[in-house]
Amino acid sequence: MAEGVVHVGLLPNAGMGHLTPFLRLAALLLKHNCKVTLITPQPTVSLAESELISRFHSQFPQVTRIDFHLLPFDATSANSTDPIFLRFESVRRSAHSLSPLLDSISPPLSALVFDLTLISPIIPVIETLSLPSFILFTSSARMFSFFSYFPSFANVSDHNHDSLVIPGIPPVPRSSIPPLLRDPNSIFARMFTEDSGKLRKFNGILINTFAGLEAESLEALRERKVSKELPPVFAIGPFEPCEFERLKKENSTSKWLDDQPQGSVVFVSFGSRTAMRREQIREIGDGLLRSGCKFLWVVKDKPIDREEKEGLEQVVGHELMDKLKEKGLVVKTWVDQNEILGHGAVGGFVCHCGWNSVIEAALNGVKILAWPQHGDQKINAEVVEMGGLGMWVKDWGRGEKDLVKGEEIGKAIRQMMNNESPKISLFKIQEAARKALGVGGNCQIMFQRLIEEWKKKD
Ligand code: UDP
Ligand code: UDP
Repeated sequence: MAEGVVHVGLLPNAGMGHLTPFLRLAALLLKHNCKVTLITPQPTVSLAESELISRFHSQFPQVTRIDFHLLPFDATSANSTDPIFLRFESVRRSAHSLSPLLDSISPPLSALVFDLTLISPIIPVIETLSLPSFILFTSSARMFSFFSYFPSFANVSDHNHDSLVIPGIPPVPRSSIPPLLRDPNSIFARMFTEDSGKLRKFNGILINTFAGLEAESLEALRERKVSKELPPVFAIGPFEPCEFERLKKENSTSKWLDDQPQGSVVFVSFGSRTAMRREQIREIGDGLLRSGCKFLWVVKDKPIDREEKEGLEQVVGHELMDKLKEKGLVVKTWVDQNEILGHGAVGGFVCHCGWNSVIEAALNGVKILAWPQHGDQKINAEVVEMGGLGMWVKDWGRGEKDLVKGEEIGKAIRQMMNNESPKISLFKIQEAARKALGVGGNCQIMFQRLIEEWKKKD
């Protein structure tokens, strides 16, 4: 290896929401003249992941590809039916076999950047290899604060207060705590409990965020108000979407958007793995009609794309579909979300607040109507609301239990699209995002610091 070149190993876990930021980080590292090795658990859970990995390697043939083959795994022992959580667990149980694999990489790695879901099992691996290691946290700095403060909560389910007080940041309402944490046997709760007290074992935490959106959380983390045990936190976002993510095939959504007036369309999508119940899907359709707005709606019927069997008309219902076709575009396929958010016709985004989607909306200056569904999404919705990126109708709850009626949905969409929420300050956020990305901006500063640190290892 040329003198001074740093070689970074990247180890994502399952799901587009985890894989995508790792690949964007890879592209950034290449831009900063690093050598990159990408280690991906195989086979992937979704088709979207395997297609994205292929496109990534076609664009960047210089990246070394290592397929991480998982050991046999008895899913019945894991207490979950969620294919992504099961994969997290399976990767965790295979992680010890990473030692020889990482040790054989040549030239040796300067650092390993891995997914948060691998904390406990990666520790013996990095200790054996004396490998500097960094977590790429794929959610918000606020969620990371919650995660790192977690060992200080005696027992979340026993907590009687309305909110959890975390030093240095606005309190987290009880209702925002990921529901799975209330079940101590869930994979999610076990992972949190086992892992969150071990952050000091690592050299740093990378977060795809920026001070213009999360100043308070970043400061609280940097000043170790949240926890004294934290390694340095590097805010390296906002990650920009990359060329390899673009869909090559004929794109019907952009053609349709081209014909719509500026800012007139509401984009409705709940990310890569959130499927709504049929009843709720139909209420959303009704809500879109009631909103009076043009819309581009991505329907998902199953959490994993390989399992999608039924057609759009069957899922939405023929009668409703006929009405929807007159007012908007409804699709049941993977879309190029970044192209959509960047299109001038799109004026608002009904979003589940998966963190990548939030960052993409901020970058494109598209306001959000937050409708969080799972896990960290309510905590991210708080960032959206507090940061001035959008509005959130809190009493909607998560889509699984409570049915939100079309009438309410239509009203909230109208409010968002008509800018009736005074707290939204999109321009400021988009400017801050651009500034962080610009020459001499925070992104560049953080990367320089990281690379200097990685060089020291040689
Ligand atoms: N995405 C996309 N097209 C789709 C669905 C999702 O491009 O049809 C992308 C989206 O832009 C984001 C990622 O998939 O980059 C989803 O990650 P996020 O954190 O928003 O949510 P998750 O899918 O993990 O719930
Ligand atoms: N920052 C960070 N991680 C660090 C140090 C700084 O993310 O370990 C970010 C921080 O969010 C801030 C920016 O870098 O927005 C500049 O930080 P610095 O400490 O240089 O200046 P300050 O914000 O304290 O004036």
